[in-house]
Amino acid sequence: MRELLRFNGTLPDPRDTPGFKGDKGKARREAAALAPEMAELQEMLFANGRVGGRKRLLLVLQGMDASGKDGTVKHIVSQVNPAGARITSFGTPTKEELAHDFLWRITNALPSPGQIGVFNRSHYEDVLVVRVHNLVPRAVWGRRYARINAFEKRLVTSGCAVVKVYLHLSKQEQRQRLLERVEEPTKHWKVGPADLLDRRRWEDYQQAYEVALTRCSSDLAPWFVVPADRKWYRDWAVSHLVLKTLREMDLSWPTPAGVNLAAMKKELLAEP
Ligand code: ADP
Repeated sequence: MRELLRFNGTLPDPRDTPGFKGDKGKARREAAALAPEMAELQEMLFANGRVGGRKRLLLVLQGMDASGKDGTVKHIVSQVNPAGARITSFGTPTKEELAHDFLWRITNALPSPGQIGVFNRSHYEDVLVVRVHNLVPRAVWGRRYARINAFEKRLVTSGCAVVKVYLHLSKQEQRQRLLERVEEPTKHWKVGPADLLDRRRWEDYQQAYEVALTRCSSDLAPWFVVPADRKWYRDWAVSHLVLKTLREMDLSWPTPAGVNLAAMKKELLAEP
């Protein structure tokens, strides 16, 4: 399944469901069935962090407006203990953020040992929106791909597994979802001034995504492309990607140093 989703140079049909056959109900049931193992592995990761382990996991979510980044955060985080999760959304940089290197705010938001971090948008905006809307000179954003690769390599070698997911939405499905937002009062708050500006530049964004995915996919930190027109497939696929990564982190239940369990048990049992 993971290999099917790994970016291989071309983008799939956003309505596809690679690795899955069946309907929405089946996908929802299967995704729910993964939750207990996900919760257990997260607790193990958290426990390792408490006793000095360095391992942590970062899920990076990118995609056009309405591609389901918020929904995916909700889906993944609802399956784990929120105490061990760190969620960060990256919007337009503040004055302070702009005064620093583009990786500054990213570094500040990384998960601590034992945590699962989720980035709703990320450092990739600095080669996506920035590239499409010419927010800095070409020479500046052009150097960022290599900077990102070096940054992610350091991250992974320091014990942070990185799962990068591009939620691949069709232009047609985005239209539907944006229309729903415009027509439904409970969704008006989701509408932003940038939505249409970005939509008008759809092809430029697709190109910017393809370049970013191509230049920043490595064995250490590959990109996964999740077709996102079907929300139930998106959740199913991201659950699988995160769980598979947790499984490969070689986690086990730790015993803290300096605790004599046998002596503790003896004393507790000896209480009157
Ligand atoms: P969302 O649209 O994801 O719900 P927000 O409305 O808070 O969230 O803001 C996201 C906006 O911030 C997007 O339009 C995005 O392009 C922009 N943004 C994110 N990172 C950057 C960046 N590094 N430079 C410029 N704009 C950015």
